[in-house]
Amino acid sequence: MTADIAAAKAALAHLELDENPVSLKAKSRDFFWYSPVLKARLDHVVGDFAVAPRTEAEVIEVLRTCYRHNVPVTTRGAGTGNYGQAMPLAGGCVLHMRNMAAVKEIHPGRVIVEPGCLLKDLDAATKAHSGQEIRMFSSTWATATIGGFIAGGSGGVGSCTWGSLRDLGNIIRLRVVTMEEEPRVLEFRGEELARVSHAYGTNGIISEIEMPLAPAYDWVEMFVATDEFDDAMAFAEDLANQDGILIKLATVFEAPIAHDYFQRVKPHVEPATNLVGLMVAPHSMDGFLTFLGRRPRARIIYRSDDNDWARGPGPVFEYGWNHTTLRALKVDPSITYLQVRYGFPRHRELVAKMREKFSPEVLQHLEVLREGGKVIFAGLSLVKFTTEERLDEIVRAHEEAGAMIFNPHRYTLEEGGRQTVDDRQLRFKKEADPKGLLNPGKMIAWDDPDFKYDRVYAYPGMKAAE
Ligand code: FAD
Repeated sequence: MTADIAAAKAALAHLELDENPVSLKAKSRDFFWYSPVLKARLDHVVGDFAVAPRTEAEVIEVLRTCYRHNVPVTTRGAGTGNYGQAMPLAGGCVLHMRNMAAVKEIHPGRVIVEPGCLLKDLDAATKAHSGQEIRMFSSTWATATIGGFIAGGSGGVGSCTWGSLRDLGNIIRLRVVTMEEEPRVLEFRGEELARVSHAYGTNGIISEIEMPLAPAYDWVEMFVATDEFDDAMAFAEDLANQDGILIKLATVFEAPIAHDYFQRVKPHVEPATNLVGLMVAPHSMDGFLTFLGRRPRARIIYRSDDNDWARGPGPVFEYGWNHTTLRALKVDPSITYLQVRYGFPRHRELVAKMREKFSPEVLQHLEVLREGGKVIFAGLSLVKFTTEERLDEIVRAHEEAGAMIFNPHRYTLEEGGRQTVDDRQLRFKKEADPKGLLNPGKMIAWDDPDFKYDRVYAYPGMKAAE
């Protein structure tokens, strides 16, 4: 099966096509370089051309054409993913969704939107229309698309209250175009959503999204400091368990993260200061301050609605989730990270164990997350990188202790997830992408059903480095 790139390009020449080597390279990359492991493997990857459809009909045309000419298609939202998700490993077409960004309908409790809409633009539209906002967003709110969040993300700011994208009710409906001789348009709800949500665009292109909304607030953003790490961790968890206080973010940073990596926070903390980043609804501030009053070892050092900082820190959520890694990387390029699930009821015990074993080589950055009605921690731990072997050793120690790792140093769905095949996604790929042209190399189960996960998967179809 040989790709006829020239024929596909000629057939699509009337659309918004990009073949400029410089912009094409930029459109073929994401934030894979956070991982030294991925940086070494994916740095050379580039597509053959990019096309930015304006309508679902143009998406269908691109897919029909690429199918006919055996051209791989890798979809791109804004390319803020961290695992090479939007990178065209086998070359071919980069399907850029930026022109499909319309907010189509807003109703009480729900919105219908095109996939290329930026999260911030979606929030602005629903807030202006009827004082509503999306329940959760990636901390890349300012730059990422809603389609990329659903196909590549997991949750984020808001997940302390609403859980993750995969939880029932957090996506209402997805409209999906298949990659067949004659592409079909399908509508998924309920159980069917799991076929394409968090599937990295390997089995269909999302062309319309219906999401639930929550009331919008002018969230009060805060930093709360403690001298002991355990006090910060308990503060965040106990606050999230206060049923009457509405929060959108509770993030814990082990010392000296705030002092060493948060430039604008540095003048206000000591190296030994642990920090909790918070977003609290304005009407919950009385309850929050009462809660704080019961915690003599915790103190507010920053409040977005009342402070005397000469230089404000910017949005507090841009210190949390994977922005913590970004801030650390800017100061110390040898920093990388892990994604850990510290599950209920052993979450605090597991964090303590990992701290005892690895701090300061691994520093704890915890995001409070609701899972099955319980408060747990998602760890995006900062790791001082030395070698791949050492990184693997740290991963193994977490797994052996019972802390699940979603490895951000792998580019496949399975290795970045639970190391098992998602049968629903695989079955749908067989039906919707029979030639295996959508985002090749990202689903091991498609390429090598017998893969044992005893080594790093290396996609055999990867375009060679020049
Ligand atoms: P892209 O990176 O362009 O794409 C992501 C994946 O989705 C790719 O596999 C792509 O092929 C696929 N895709 C995109 N659009 C479609 C479509 N229409 N149909 C089918 N497939 C599609 N992630 C989180 O979940 N939570 C966070 O809090 C978070 N914080 C981050 C912080 C930083 C600093 C960085 C760099 C990354 C962070 N991420 C986070 C990862 C990423 O930013 C988010 O998942 C983001 O929502 C991805 O959106 P995007 O538009 O950039 O998608």
